[in-house]
Amino acid sequence: MDRQLLEPSQMDGKLTYRFDTTGRRVALLPARCKLGRHTLGHSQFRAVVRDGEAHISCLACATDTADHFWRLAATAPAADRAELSEELYFELVRHQPQTALTSGNGRRA
Ligand SMILES: [Zn+2]
Repeated sequence: MDRQLLEPSQMDGKLTYRFDTTGRRVALLPARCKLGRHTLGHSQFRAVVRDGEAHISCLACATDTADHFWRLAATAPAADRAELSEELYFELVRHQPQTALTSGNGRRA
């Protein structure tokens, strides 16, 4: 259940797009959920764009925490299609404080 009244965390970054060969805009979404637990290609998620923000929520995490969704600034209207990108948001995922709780996740220095 979404807890809309709670102020979510700050913006996580910017939604990125690419253009396919026919010139249509494709939104690139993080391939991993915000908590770093799930690969969104394998797990259910919901992406909503409204008020200039894209919210990509992992349905598996939604029951655990109110802060389960990515907040990405959407600089363009909703794209026709979306793809998951492992590389693009890798830095973002790695810098999430939550992922620090999961040892062995990501690279070690
Ligand atoms: Zn998740």
